[in-house]
Amino acid sequence: MKTMRIGVLALQGDVEEHLAMLKKCGATAARNVGRGGSTEEVEAVRVKHVKDVEAVDALIIPGGESTTIAKLMWASGIAEEVKKRAGEGMPVWGTCAGLVLLAKKGDEQVKKTGQKLLELMDFEVGRNAFGRQKESFEAELDVGGIKKFPAVFIRAPAIAKVWGDCKVLARFDGKIVAAEQGNFLATAFHPELSEDARVHEYFLGKIGRQEKKR
Ligand code: GLN
Repeated sequence: MKTMRIGVLALQGDVEEHLAMLKKCGATAARNVGRGGSTEEVEAVRVKHVKDVEAVDALIIPGGESTTIAKLMWASGIAEEVKKRAGEGMPVWGTCAGLVLLAKKGDEQVKKTGQKLLELMDFEVGRNAFGRQKESFEAELDVGGIKKFPAVFIRAPAIAKVWGDCKVLARFDGKIVAAEQGNFLATAFHPELSEDARVHEYFLGKIGRQEKKR
């Protein structure tokens, strides 16, 4: 049986929740073996060093504080390695602060803090886009083909605009809150904080699709 090794960037933020959700996906994959479903095992690993990036099939950048995660990514050399692997086709998914880091462009708030971005997806991001009165909330959203997903938002960013090959997957309050571009996925909300593994399953599907293209 083939193993998909999924890394969760473990420098700061909600790492454990993503690892737990990936374990849940692994259990589903294992149950589906022999029932015509996926025959791959899912291994969830923490990514803390450059060598860890080299060893994974896909990477999740979690929510947290994007300025802190950015500092640590560039100080450790992980940022360059992620950009290199992403350029070679590795699927990367950013949730919340992770979405901020995937952006090609940032708003005034991003520019003010001077934080670096990975610049992997064709969109402009606005940090803390839902204001103080809406710091944390839950909404049921259609995310591409995934219907009625319980989306948890915590001081969430939003995508101000997309261009090029970047596709909008979900909107809330007129704002873009999920997007996809080739191997890359970005969600302003936190699927790892719900009980619903469908967005994680969708991301894992990118690994299969990418292999078929080769
Ligand atoms: N507002 C935070 C930032 O821009 C993200 C919040 C989160 O990841 N929950 O870093």
